[in-house]
Amino acid sequence: MEFLGIFNAQDFAATQKGGNTMTILPRMNKNKCVLVIFILLFLISACATTQKAGMQTPDEANTFMAAAAKQGRASVRDMTFEAFEASVYREPFEGGKYVVNGDTTILNKKQLQEFFERKVRTEPESMEALELIVNNVGGLDSIWNHTQKKNLTYCISTDFGARYDAVAADLEAATGAWEAVADIDFIHVSAEDSDCNAFNSEVVFDVRPVDVSGRYLARAFFPNEPRFSRNVLIDESSFQLAPDGSLTLVGILRHELGHALGFRHEHTRPDSGACFEDNDWRPVTDYDPFSVMHYPQCNGLGDWTLTLTDTDKAGAACLYGAAAGFSFDPSICPGDGGPIDPPPPGEPKTETFTNQDVAQGDEVHYGPFKVASGTIFMAVMSGVASPGDPDLYVRFDAEPQRVIYDCRPFLFGAEEECAIDVPTDGRLAFVMVHGYSAGNYDLTVTHTPPAE
Ligand SMILES: [Zn+2]
Repeated sequence: MEFLGIFNAQDFAATQKGGNTMTILPRMNKNKCVLVIFILLFLISACATTQKAGMQTPDEANTFMAAAAKQGRASVRDMTFEAFEASVYREPFEGGKYVVNGDTTILNKKQLQEFFERKVRTEPESMEALELIVNNVGGLDSIWNHTQKKNLTYCISTDFGARYDAVAADLEAATGAWEAVADIDFIHVSAEDSDCNAFNSEVVFDVRPVDVSGRYLARAFFPNEPRFSRNVLIDESSFQLAPDGSLTLVGILRHELGHALGFRHEHTRPDSGACFEDNDWRPVTDYDPFSVMHYPQCNGLGDWTLTLTDTDKAGAACLYGAAAGFSFDPSICPGDGGPIDPPPPGEPKTETFTNQDVAQGDEVHYGPFKVASGTIFMAVMSGVASPGDPDLYVRFDAEPQRVIYDCRPFLFGAEEECAIDVPTDGRLAFVMVHGYSAGNYDLTVTHTPPAE
């Protein structure tokens, strides 16, 4: 079974018909039936309980989610990773990602294994309020840097055929909804539409049709994923929606582009497959049960129109700055201590480390490199002969550890890159290469120290 198609066509059908519980079994192998039924029974009762409880406040939601997450985790605690992997849906094409939590993608086996060890088998320590949440790694928001955010280029595959114009119009509307509130620019590069695939490096991301038989309606990516995984894929089922229903392709795209800007599900906990926990997020705003990033299925109070609420708008403006003409109250943004008056930046410097190697399990540390707030710190690792699998880690103001970092691509092979904004209080950047397996690589670091 998949974990768990909350945002897929079958569930949608059930919901649209007035049911608010998942009553349709996903496709599965017979030998997984028992587990599936167990989890579904749990989820059905969980959803029903939620509906009954009404769950109007963050506290009520929290209490419910804590119990649900515990119960969900107990059901898979004894699984091996191999059994878990076999139970997770993987897109059936080259470069296909694992899909968990409805439409959340995990891009390789290495990352799935980590998700399993740290999020499924392990009970996280804190249970904080559910709020508009941003993808967060090791304390730093995983968002586009200040250069990238103004140049979010994309192509729309001509494989959409007769639907191309409608898809293009919906993308224009969905990108426009975010651009109206946040200081970002999505740019359609139509010249690349006829060659619109995961390997086209002329655009930041590609938008293509797929047929995954309703496993999801659409899926996207998070900022800082590598080019090949930055795609918005739209399933055939997105074109078979009830014509008079509230769910539309433009609503789905607003939600998916929210992921592409770094937002996670408002309701990470109940949605997380069998309610797995995931602590890699940071609340940006107060709990908003009507958020575009909130599926209404289990505990949402909104509907399927997936429109940006005032809280979504303010949250996006907090992260990326407000769009021209959009006014909001910045005091709602979570502060990092207020303005710090960082020193002005000097000239960028580039340092290269060639023919480096790391043994399996070892760490090689670089830096610290002096940095000025508001500049971009860049570390680019590339493979040399027999590159193996070194992993790149970057952290501001302290040495990265394998579980604490501000950027870590975590791909197979040696081609990895971090290009991130230095935070307001950032003064030093540290780089570490860990040998997932033994590896050979070159490393280039570009940093901008404060003016002398
Ligand atoms: Zn989603």
